[in-house]
Amino acid sequence: MIRNKGITNSILELVGETPLIKLHKITKDLPGNYYAKFEAFNPGNSAKDRIALHIIKDAEKKGILKNGATIVETTSGNTGFSLAMISIVRGYKCILAVSDKSSIDKINLLTTMGAEVHVCPANVAPEDPRSYYEVAKTIHKKTKNSVYINQYFNELNIEAHYRTTGPEIWEQTEGKVTHLVAASGTGGTISGTGKYLKEQNSTIKVLGVDAFGSVLKKYHETKELDLNEVSPYKIEGLGKNLIPTATDFDVIDIYEKVSDKDAALEARAIVKKEGMFPGYTSGAVMQATKQYAAQNIFTKDSFVVLIFPDHGSRYLNKIYSDQWMQKNNFM
Ligand code: PMP
Repeated sequence: MIRNKGITNSILELVGETPLIKLHKITKDLPGNYYAKFEAFNPGNSAKDRIALHIIKDAEKKGILKNGATIVETTSGNTGFSLAMISIVRGYKCILAVSDKSSIDKINLLTTMGAEVHVCPANVAPEDPRSYYEVAKTIHKKTKNSVYINQYFNELNIEAHYRTTGPEIWEQTEGKVTHLVAASGTGGTISGTGKYLKEQNSTIKVLGVDAFGSVLKKYHETKELDLNEVSPYKIEGLGKNLIPTATDFDVIDIYEKVSDKDAALEARAIVKKEGMFPGYTSGAVMQATKQYAAQNIFTKDSFVVLIFPDHGSRYLNKIYSDQWMQKNNFM
């Protein structure tokens, strides 16, 4: 069957409705069945297409975003790509504050997509004027007729996944899903998807993935922001050094933290065992799933959905470079 019948009027019509793909070899030693919601099938190759389109459509509807306006955002790269793509189609200018932790592949992609890119240091406090949050805010203030997407503190981020990713998974699994495993960055994906799924069946468990070096897991457990948890790490788009309001911590049952090395090795294992080419955080989600399995969270009847947020092509000079892996003692 042809997935997209007839003519598609614009690339933006292809956002969402990504496939749910059964995992075979990589999960063969784990109890239950495992499926990857592979968000690289979005036209911008990541889950961020969903939130970028939802937030822009909302701003257009409210009359905040007018012809020739400028879109400003803080991004590890994926949201930036989605915004740049939509800006081209809709006729907006796009200015992005990106962390210097983002892969060079991602930064090059953003400029190729016509965005103005400001690279900011990753390892400074969020309130530091050099941080990508503060740089984006300053650009927004200085730029007339600009809109700040503010994905970390925008409830529409959760809503985008509540309205699309959640219902898609429910339908694709015919209501059989028992567990959702998802990375937590802004928290929009896990919160919106998890909320929708729990409303359909309150026994579904929502399992979060955090990084060593991030504050999210501890905050979930203690409701306290412990900055002693913060240390540099390499995975992009996972974990945080602040508490985003786009995370609904009540929806998440439990978090696991993963290491840079384990996540990188798992991403490479997904390629070799499943023939899929996902990004770094997909490796993190796979690794966390194995850690959850080691805690006996799954049974033979489990129907586990893992969200793979983006495509491996954005990490060719990082986890898919043997040199990079060796330099970091990951191989
Ligand atoms: N993986 C990647 C590659 C990302 O860019 C992001 C977004 N920062 C996430 C996972 C996490 O998604 P969310 O922001 O919805 O929590």
